[in-house]
Amino acid sequence: MAEKKLGLKEKYQLMTRGLDWETTYQPMDKVFPYDKYEGIKIKDWDKWEDPFRLTMDAYWKYQAEKERKLYAILDSFSQNNGQLNISDARYLTALKIWMQGITPAEYNSHRGFCMVGRQFRGAGARVACQMQALDELRHAQTQIHAFSHYNKHFGGFHQAMHMRDRAWYLSIPKSFFEDAMTAGPFEFVTSISFAFEYVLTNLLFMPFVSGAAYNGDMATTTFGFSAQSDESRHMTLGLEVVKFVLEQHEDNVPIMQRYIDKWFWRGYRLLALVGVMMDYMLPRKVMSWAEAWGIYWEENGTALFNDLARYGIKPPKYHEIATAEKHHITHQAWAVFYTACPATGFHAWLPQEYELDWLSEKYGSTFDRYYRPRFAEFARIEREGGRFYTNRLPLVCQTCQVPDFFTEVDNPMKQSIRQVEWRGMKYNFCSDGCRDIFVNEPEKFCQAYIPPQQIYQGNAGGARTLPEYAAWLKCEFGKDSGEYYTSDDYARWKAMHGGNDTTPSSAAA
Ligand code: FE
Ligand code: ZN
Repeated sequence: MAEKKLGLKEKYQLMTRGLDWETTYQPMDKVFPYDKYEGIKIKDWDKWEDPFRLTMDAYWKYQAEKERKLYAILDSFSQNNGQLNISDARYLTALKIWMQGITPAEYNSHRGFCMVGRQFRGAGARVACQMQALDELRHAQTQIHAFSHYNKHFGGFHQAMHMRDRAWYLSIPKSFFEDAMTAGPFEFVTSISFAFEYVLTNLLFMPFVSGAAYNGDMATTTFGFSAQSDESRHMTLGLEVVKFVLEQHEDNVPIMQRYIDKWFWRGYRLLALVGVMMDYMLPRKVMSWAEAWGIYWEENGTALFNDLARYGIKPPKYHEIATAEKHHITHQAWAVFYTACPATGFHAWLPQEYELDWLSEKYGSTFDRYYRPRFAEFARIEREGGRFYTNRLPLVCQTCQVPDFFTEVDNPMKQSIRQVEWRGMKYNFCSDGCRDIFVNEPEKFCQAYIPPQQIYQGNAGGARTLPEYAAWLKCEFGKDSGEYYTSDDYARWKAMHGGNDTTPSSAAA
């Protein structure tokens, strides 16, 4: 008798469904204690449709093939001294922040999906979470491998995991993922798979990967593309989750709306780090933050929420504020990086003349009126032999943990600060969005580990100055931190190029 060959769909059904059972020794609610307490009602887990219908054996086969290609390219990159072909060593600041801030977040995402995969009682959802957990672990690993080549030649790459738990600017991504991991399983999936992966990831991956390509970094470009195919699977999962939950019960709609509002705002604040990378850290520019926001949020995001309107879901609260801020936040953030870089694991610098002109072209009168004069003043100090470093620690938002450099949307000369008193303590926020998040969950956010407050309390190895603080991060002033043009990185880069300054003279690739 001829063996009957199964179709892809049948094979998928057999390998991913019916593997679970109703427990009898213990009640199901005791075995899966977490998937009901958020108040989300699921009537039928079998309505869960996996967008990719990928079985585990096929998953391993695809991923192994991608790994083989990626590591072949990474090998040839290092054998051919690929570091010599990047546009300028300033570019590496983007990679350092990626390595210190995003790579540990990938690992936390892995941990989060492992936990959620255990918490859902639907087998289809569990299988999808298992694959994403593996993808995220792979992303953390491939990024470390790709960046490790630069660690042989430049500062700032050597202590990412140590810094993750200590550095003030790294508590921004760290707190984002830890907030998600300590939420219920539906909130976790909405925060990471939907708000972050589906709504906002294009703003992370597209500019970053094309930025790497424009700046001659083939190692990063290759891991970026290798991760992008996983990313598209994650995005589809994110949308599927939200639609599944909304279709299960109408009571789920207000809960999901609150998650969407919260995580859109948290994700948007996190992306300020990406925006400043695009506008200031890439010596050769891809597009401005304002342009990327226009394409990926104002066009694509709006279309998505038009589509979700039939479930009763509205666009995320305060999205108009995010759009109004697009002309400002990157310039404000770079001024903070420029003045506080002795307390980091990266270098900063003043934009070159061609970059100031590019920023004027992209941001027009906003840049010329409010930010160009600020950089001109820093430049005057540099011409006179100084370098402006801040001596103080910033006030940090209790929710997003970004230093409060944001301004009011209707007045760029006025700092945006909100304050809430709760159980006899005052808490500060950067925005209405962050304040609302706190007010919804004060018991959670009052516990946030806020780095500047810890430093003031002497909990940063007793550091009293920014260079001392950097030393506590295991970073050395001049080597890993502080001004770029007086750094070891710059000296080494010039030596690699016959003593020449290779700073590009135009923004074009
Ligand atoms: Fe990832
Ligand atoms: Zn905030």
